[in-house]
Amino acid sequence: MRKPIIAGNWKMFKTVSEAEAFLAEVKGKAEVEGVDSVICAPYIALPALTKAAQGTKIGIGAQNLHFEDNGAYTGEISGIMLKDLNVSYVIIGHSERRAYFAETDEIVNKKVHAAFKHGLTPIVCVGEKLEEREADQTKNVCNVQTTAAFQGLSAEQAAQVVIAYEPIWAIGTGKSSTAADAEDVIAYIRDVVVGLYNQETADAVRIQYGGSVKPNNIKEYLAQPNIDGALVGGASLEPASYIELVQGAK
Ligand code: 13P
Repeated sequence: MRKPIIAGNWKMFKTVSEAEAFLAEVKGKAEVEGVDSVICAPYIALPALTKAAQGTKIGIGAQNLHFEDNGAYTGEISGIMLKDLNVSYVIIGHSERRAYFAETDEIVNKKVHAAFKHGLTPIVCVGEKLEEREADQTKNVCNVQTTAAFQGLSAEQAAQVVIAYEPIWAIGTGKSSTAADAEDVIAYIRDVVVGLYNQETADAVRIQYGGSVKPNNIKEYLAQPNIDGALVGGASLEPASYIELVQGAK
């Protein structure tokens, strides 16, 4: 039985003080037995959030990391630095990073290895563009991205990866994938992991849906046998709606 995981991806929103106020509001409410609740915040809010979340069921995640531990990489943050702050999760390969920051499948794979090196749970994003969907390439794109992301991981590591299937046309558009369509692709992604490892490993991997998830549609996704949670942008920014998302995953 896979534990559902709701992760808020704040993207480039919220100052440190806004982040602190958010956590104070959701504490005790966005915490449900049997559900992982994760907030992925901008780097500068992570020290305050990891402190404020101590002793709660809320996990804190970053939205990116560099694959090296240290070095002359101006402006970058490494896994060592995140682990030192008690960050637990890191989003890797979000479509916005692939599109605007030229992240390739190879870079994504290096970052996944860096996350494991430092004891961070990677949330690896995969998903097709609208034109790829229209060209019936959805599964092919997800296969290529998933296979590349897992390259070189042991079965034990693979089992701990969280995959977020985020069709790019559904991100921030209000046009969410139907639960049935998302289930179809996510079941396929699980089959890809079976092919890379085995059924037992694939059964352990948690796969989220992301793209215009809201409190009013979360339950439809979670009702699907292969959908284990959601990666949520816009609807994770308001305390009340984040609380509803986490509570809706029960
Ligand atoms: P929205 O929930 O705003 O569509 O964003 C989804 C997303 O990109 C989460 O990573």
